[in-house]
Amino acid sequence: MVSVLDPEAQLNALLGEVPTEIDVGRRHRVFCNRNLRMDTIEMIGFDMDYTLALYHQEKLEQLSIELTLRKMIENHGYPPEVLGLDFDPRRAIRGLMIDKQRGHVFKMDRHSHVGRCWHGSRKLTAEERRDTYRHGRIDFSSDDYAWIDTLFGLPEAVMFVALVDFLDRASGGAPVDYVKIVDDIRRSIDEAHADDTLKSVIKADLAGYIQKDDNLAETLHKLRSSGKKLFLLTNSAFDYTDHVMRFLLDGERKAYPSWRNYFDVVIVSGAKPAFFNERRPFVQIDPATRQPMSGEVKALSAGRIYQGGNVAAFEEMTHIRGEHVLYIGDHIYGDILRLRKQHMWRTAMVLQELDREIAVSDRLEGQIRDLELLDRRRRNLESEIDYQALRSKKLQRLLEDEAALAALSAGHRARLEEARRSTKASLDSLRDRLRMMTEEVESLEDSIERAYNPYWGSILREGNENSRFGEQVNDYADLYTSRVSNFLSYSPLRYFRAPRRPMPHEQ
Ligand code: IMP
Ligand code: MG
Repeated sequence: MVSVLDPEAQLNALLGEVPTEIDVGRRHRVFCNRNLRMDTIEMIGFDMDYTLALYHQEKLEQLSIELTLRKMIENHGYPPEVLGLDFDPRRAIRGLMIDKQRGHVFKMDRHSHVGRCWHGSRKLTAEERRDTYRHGRIDFSSDDYAWIDTLFGLPEAVMFVALVDFLDRASGGAPVDYVKIVDDIRRSIDEAHADDTLKSVIKADLAGYIQKDDNLAETLHKLRSSGKKLFLLTNSAFDYTDHVMRFLLDGERKAYPSWRNYFDVVIVSGAKPAFFNERRPFVQIDPATRQPMSGEVKALSAGRIYQGGNVAAFEEMTHIRGEHVLYIGDHIYGDILRLRKQHMWRTAMVLQELDREIAVSDRLEGQIRDLELLDRRRRNLESEIDYQALRSKKLQRLLEDEAALAALSAGHRARLEEARRSTKASLDSLRDRLRMMTEEVESLEDSIERAYNPYWGSILREGNENSRFGEQVNDYADLYTSRVSNFLSYSPLRYFRAPRRPMPHEQ
């Protein structure tokens, strides 16, 4: 039996102040897209990589790039000098799309319209972008596009941008096979993940690559103490999982000598999203030999390790129905989207980048408010210009109508002429002001966007809209937060409520 709070701690907790949402700073908050009552949740599942284990992104990226390039040099004929190229980590954010045929990388808004777009380190002009992508919607499922949807994928985009520049230069204007670059990167990084080249380096320096979260153990303990069952469901294999989870949790609390004590079920090599839509069997593995054991798995027991499996068998064996399960993951496609589309488990998404996004928006609060004000003024100016332009057109039409003019006295004709002149002058001055204001709005927008990322702006926004990625977080994740331990500030019985979202006509 794992420990519950000691009596003194229980008394303190009962008599202490009731925390309100205001007490939780924005950076540590759990945000809600869809109402969720934690008291109806009986079981909470966790993904491991980028969910329980947050990586030091830049360092992991550097390693992934180096190991991938070495494979590309050895197996795909790239020259050794590619190792010396400039790989700027800011060149990639989650949610980008690679256009394999054209060698472009772009970001989309929530309507899937192409926003910023780069070919290597050259930004496409608005005109080039329109000419290339204005014809209808893009078929993202086509093999011509590659979606960067996890933090593991960022180095792929960073390498692609640098290699497009390099091979464009090297080809001296001859056509470059960009599809091959993407495919070579994909194959090589895939191998680096699968053949232990990447993981052996991480395992040898866990503290260098993985962020240790001091509140993680307490968060898991708090959820368990409230009577919820916890499980781990990761795509990582047992050996790596064991190394990472030991680093994160072993020795953190006396009542849990091993990380495995926190979980009622441990599933490794889960093969998500296939776990959610195929019928792979569960296989028990022997933790000592790390080898599969024979025999059919008829029950999922605490203290054992399973690999593979599927959601239907999981629910049958745990006797817990989907709506009572909350799964916390980081991968919109592998962890979140399938569950939401098939109305199975409830979901919470860990968005490691959110911490920085919120810090930047806090820092720029004044500028963001100025921008909103300027933008409102600009809209007013535009409607004033529309009004004056219409008036000017009507006056012009009158002045060109000889029969109407003949019916007017000389005094009226002079007044009409004067009105036309003054309307034109005021239109000219309004248009000048609009030009200046537009420049001001654009420069302010630009400096705000640059603070998030100089090439891409915020991961969650594109222009005045949510980015496509931001919209997916909105649509598919019931909750989202920057790290699992943010749940520590909330009662395990909390009713997470989605904010009221007004439609444009209600604003
Ligand atoms: P999870 O997030 O805990 O489910 O685990 C993700 C696993 O997928 C980790 O073991 C990663 O090394 C692995 N992974 C991520 N990207 C790739 C890839 O491109 N090829 C193969 N494995 C990958
Ligand atoms: Mg993950």
